Amino acid sequence: MKTLRGFRDILPPESDVFHFIEEKSREIFNIFSYREIRSPTLEETALFIKSTGETTDIVEKEMYSFTDNGGRNVTLRPEGTPQIVRAFINHNMSTNYVPPFKFFYIGSMFRAERPQAGRFREFEQIGVEYIGNATPFSDAEVIILLYRLLSSLNIKDVLIEMNSLGCDKCRQEYKNALTRYLEAKIDSLCPACQRRYQRNPLRILDCKIDREKIRDAPEIDLCSTCNLHFEKLSNLLKKSHINFQVNKFLVRGLDYYTGTVFEAKSSELGAQDEVAAGGRYDNLIKSMGGPNMPAVGWALGTDRVAILLKDKVKINSEKRFFVACAGENARDKCFEVLLNLRKNGVVADFSNFEASLRSQMRTANKSKSSFAIIIGEKEIAQGMCILKNLKKGEEKQIPLVNIVEEALSVMEKKSHDEDTSLRRSE
Ligand code: ATP
Ligand code: MG
Repeated sequence: MKTLRGFRDILPPESDVFHFIEEKSREIFNIFSYREIRSPTLEETALFIKSTGETTDIVEKEMYSFTDNGGRNVTLRPEGTPQIVRAFINHNMSTNYVPPFKFFYIGSMFRAERPQAGRFREFEQIGVEYIGNATPFSDAEVIILLYRLLSSLNIKDVLIEMNSLGCDKCRQEYKNALTRYLEAKIDSLCPACQRRYQRNPLRILDCKIDREKIRDAPEIDLCSTCNLHFEKLSNLLKKSHINFQVNKFLVRGLDYYTGTVFEAKSSELGAQDEVAAGGRYDNLIKSMGGPNMPAVGWALGTDRVAILLKDKVKINSEKRFFVACAGENARDKCFEVLLNLRKNGVVADFSNFEASLRSQMRTANKSKSSFAIIIGEKEIAQGMCILKNLKKGEEKQIPLVNIVEEALSVMEKKSHDEDTSLRRSE
C-alpha cells in the first residue's frame, strides 16, 4: 500500500533536517520572546470560511473538509493564523495574558493542491503572529525575525518582496480602479479570475496564469497615513540590512490582509521559490468576534526550507561509540558499560552481543560510529577494555573505570575540531 498522492513519509536523514529547522526556529523565537500555541489539526470548517475567506483558492478548492460521524462539518487545517486568532479570542488572552502578544506555531497543514516539487498536500508550516501592535516597528520585527531565521539556517539569496494593501479606504479605491482597468480584459482572463472579478478583483493580481496579461494594471495609491507607515517600515528594514524590494503587485492569496504584505523568496528554489509569506491583518480579530486589535505575522514552508538544506546540514556530528562484545561471559558487562556511557551523555550504540565479534565489528564499521569499545572476558579479568578508532584503525587499552571519562573527552575534543558544522556555527 502506498501513501496518498501529495502525502509522504519523511525518513532520516531528511527528518533530521526538519528537526534542525524546528530547533533553530524555537531558539530564535525564544530570543524574540515568541511563545508556542499548539492548536488542533481539525477545526470546524466555518473557522476557515470566516477567516481565510470564501474567495480564496484555499477555501474554494483546497480544503480537506468532511462531515464527521457526529454530523459536524470539519476541516483539516489549511493554515495556522485562523487558529491562533480563534485561540486568542476563546481564551480571552488579551486580558488573561500580559502584552506583547507574540505567538508561534509549528505543524502540518493540508491543502488539496496539485503536487509538484516543493508542493505537497500535507506540508509543515512554522509561523508567528504578533498581536496588538499597529506600528511599523512590529512589521519590521516580524520581517527581521524571519530574515534572521533564514540566515541562521544558512539560506543564501533571500529576497523579501513587500507591498502595502493600504487601509480599508485605500483598498476600496484601488479595487474600484482595478475593476475599471480589468473591465476591458475580463473575457481574456482565466475562469477563476472571471469569478474573482466580481468578488475580489485584487486577487487577480495574484493569479499565476494571467500575470503577463495584466502587467500594466494600475498601482495602489496609498493615503498619507498608509504611505508613512510603509516608508517607516522600509527605513527600519534598510537600517537592519534586510534585502528587500517593493513589488507593487504583491497581494497574497488570503482575504484578511490589510496594509503590509510580504513574501520571502530564495533563488535556489525552482518554480516554488516562496519560502515564507505574511502580512498585517488589522481587521481579522475583530471580525472573528474578538477585541479590535491589529496583528501581523508570517508562515514559513518547512518542506521548502528542507529542500534547500538537504545536503547542507550535518546533523548528529558528535562522535559516536559502538560497544562490541567478545565472549559469552562479557555480555552483561558490555550492556552495563553501554548504559553507563549513555547515562553520562555519550552517544553509544550496540548491535547484537550474542553475535560473533567479527560480525559486530562489521556493523560498527558500517554504522556512523567513530570508535568501538571492545570488551571481552580477558579484558574484564584485567579491568580493561579496547578503544578502537574506526577511521584510523588504531586501538589502545583503557582501564574500564576510565571509559566514560575518555569517551567524554573524545566527544569534547570533537566539538572544538568541527566548529564548522552548521549546527555549531550560526
Ligand atoms: P504558493 O503561492 O506557493 O501556493 P501560498 O501563497 O499558498 O504559497 P501561504 O499560504 O502564504 O502560501 O503559506 C506560507 C508558506 O507555506 C509558503 O510561502 C510556502 O513556503 C508554504 N506552502 C504553501 N503551500 C504549500 C504546499 N502545498 N506545499 C509546501 N509548502 C507550501
Ligand atoms: Mg498556495
